[in-house]
Amino acid sequence: MNSLQAPAKQCSTCSKGAVIYHSDSGRLLCKGCFLKSFERKIHKNITRDQALEKSDKIVVGFSGGKDSLTILEILHARQQRIFGAPPIIAVTIDEGITGYRAETLDIAESFCAERGIPHVVLAFKEVFGRTLNEMVEIGGDIDPETKACTYCGVLRRKLLNDFAFQIGATKLVTGHNLDDHIQTFLLNLLRGDIMRVFKWNWIQDEEEQPFTPKIQPLFNVPARDIVLYLYFRKLPLQENPCPYSQSQPILRGKVQRFLNSVTQNSPEMKYNLLYSMEEIQKVGNTAQKPIFNINYCTDCGGPTNVPRVKCKTCELLERLGIEPLNHYYGTRFKDYETLWERASLLP
Ligand code: SF4
Ligand code: ZN
Ligand code: ZN
Repeated sequence: MNSLQAPAKQCSTCSKGAVIYHSDSGRLLCKGCFLKSFERKIHKNITRDQALEKSDKIVVGFSGGKDSLTILEILHARQQRIFGAPPIIAVTIDEGITGYRAETLDIAESFCAERGIPHVVLAFKEVFGRTLNEMVEIGGDIDPETKACTYCGVLRRKLLNDFAFQIGATKLVTGHNLDDHIQTFLLNLLRGDIMRVFKWNWIQDEEEQPFTPKIQPLFNVPARDIVLYLYFRKLPLQENPCPYSQSQPILRGKVQRFLNSVTQNSPEMKYNLLYSMEEIQKVGNTAQKPIFNINYCTDCGGPTNVPRVKCKTCELLERLGIEPLNHYYGTRFKDYETLWERASLLP
């Protein structure tokens, strides 16, 4: 029986009719009990280790896709309605992918407007001078080995980090879920990048770097549950996949398919992998804390790991012949700071 079949049985928690068999927990659940247990799990994550505090100024990386929509919905309710905390600012990165990003931008804009969440859209074209489509076209001739997802992932991360840091956010929240985390774990093992395996954590403080601490409260929530959550809450689900996921497949896609096939009938394996990650991380911390020495990028001034002298973003831009990020970039988003006050006037 899969998660979406409807057994004519009672919910294992209350007396209502069950609507799903939740294979991960082995329980039959009604809609209300599923939603309650889903949200409780995320609230517990946030409370655990005081990942978020009432005074936090939070920036959420908000693509408008299923994961970021879920975390923004839950955090917004928690911070505003429960705590009366400072507003959350949602940031959508518009990479410039024809036939893809427009759909999630529409979803993101109306979602934030309906809830009065301040929403900022940062476009690759505006910040870096080129859309992702243009970068891929230029890159195709000079560097065919570098795929769209590499440009996209590196530059998007850079924008989010810099934006959050420059506007004085105290936490940057992203929607990475359990499936994303275990894929990264296997990818790091496949690449022999054991330092990143030791360093894994869903809360990244990066104390030694000028970064905003990052948290990923969906780290133990499988993608399948997130889809169910959106379905039951009648929240929008993006329909079109990114064209580059088909036309320029990367290793992550293969790892994802492998994990999906081996965990299909044994969903507990995903949690076993997470358990392994947590245990390895503890060993890494009690032995010798892995140290990433920092250099400051000669182009943009941002932090980068030794032995680099240019950060990955500036290196990619240089390879594509795109104008380097200059000193001005380091203050580029400062004006958005006023959003914290403006947002508190919103309903
Ligand atoms: Fe970016 Fe690749 Fe995801 Fe498309 S599939 S949005 S190119 S990371
Ligand atoms: Zn129930
Ligand atoms: Zn740089």
